[in-house]
Amino acid sequence: MKSRYSLSLGKPFGIKVSVHWTFSLLIAWIVLISLGRGLAAPQILMHIVFVLALFVCVVLHELGHSIAAIRLGGAVDSITLLPIGGMAHLSKMPERPMDEFMVSAAGPLVNVVIAGLLWIYVALFHPVDIAAIEFETITAANFPIMLLAANLFIVAFNLIPAFPMDGGRLFRSALSIRMSRLKATRIAKDIGQVFAIVFIVGGLFFNPFLVVIGFFILLGAKGEYEMIKYQDVLKDQTVREIVKTEFAELDVDDTLGKAAERLVQVSDNGFVIMSEGEFAGILTKNDLINGLNSHGREGKIKDVMQTGLQPIHCDTPLFDVYRDMQKNRLYMLPVIENKEFKGILDLENLHEFFLIRKATKINS
Ligand SMILES: [Zn+2]
Repeated sequence: MKSRYSLSLGKPFGIKVSVHWTFSLLIAWIVLISLGRGLAAPQILMHIVFVLALFVCVVLHELGHSIAAIRLGGAVDSITLLPIGGMAHLSKMPERPMDEFMVSAAGPLVNVVIAGLLWIYVALFHPVDIAAIEFETITAANFPIMLLAANLFIVAFNLIPAFPMDGGRLFRSALSIRMSRLKATRIAKDIGQVFAIVFIVGGLFFNPFLVVIGFFILLGAKGEYEMIKYQDVLKDQTVREIVKTEFAELDVDDTLGKAAERLVQVSDNGFVIMSEGEFAGILTKNDLINGLNSHGREGKIKDVMQTGLQPIHCDTPLFDVYRDMQKNRLYMLPVIENKEFKGILDLENLHEFFLIRKATKINS
């Protein structure tokens, strides 16, 4: 989730927590529904405070996953809050089945603890007669018990085995004990997609949020399965396998017009830009088109090329590079060996390499 669409809320435990702009739609929706029900301003405010309290519980849930992941050797980028819930972006997920199980369980466990604390609070300081509670609107009287119920709902909903939701992850980690991670992910993904379709169709009748969640599951399951497939096929392979030592080359002082003429002749994702015989940067097809738009044909390559790209080493595992390129939307990277420029890695070649290896793997 791009940070420019999000508002930063802080960095608890060193993890960046931000709220996505669409969250304001949720608040607007609550206000509209409340107005439609003829509620007065103080009651509407109470509903908004309730939702904010609920999302604090959601942040704690995501922090539960995140802290468990970090303790088990993973790494967490950030947590984003969306109207449908929170999302922890793990840059590195612990892969041992037991570790993954713990990370997935940690989130719902936080909500169980919150519900338990609320229960103690209600019992000691806020005794309520359950039979007399009015569940239609949130009031000062039913606030804690409603928050308790909402936390239990979060636990129950997240435990639905719809991969990549928590329940689906627990399911996959349990399967991975008995089979390969790839096969376990495929089964979890297939089941997740069935749930997603049920959510989407059911949501059309009952709740628009379910429709959105359904699509998230559908895309999330597919995306993660693709990643695991790449990981499986590319394991034990390094950048060396596909580093390109022959490439289309231009000089920093060449014009964008010259690059445009050569563009149609090359099959690469772009050009390697040299300056006095040394590697200087990369000009992808996209950089060139954008450059032509802003600088015209007489513009210089050096003004629009990508510099400061972190070079990768020949011995870097190929999957790690693939994951970073996907995440950062990079198409070409310089490759070095013994501190010297050796060639480039082109994402397109990486895709081809994957397809070839996958095909030969299946046949062998
Ligand atoms: Zn969770």
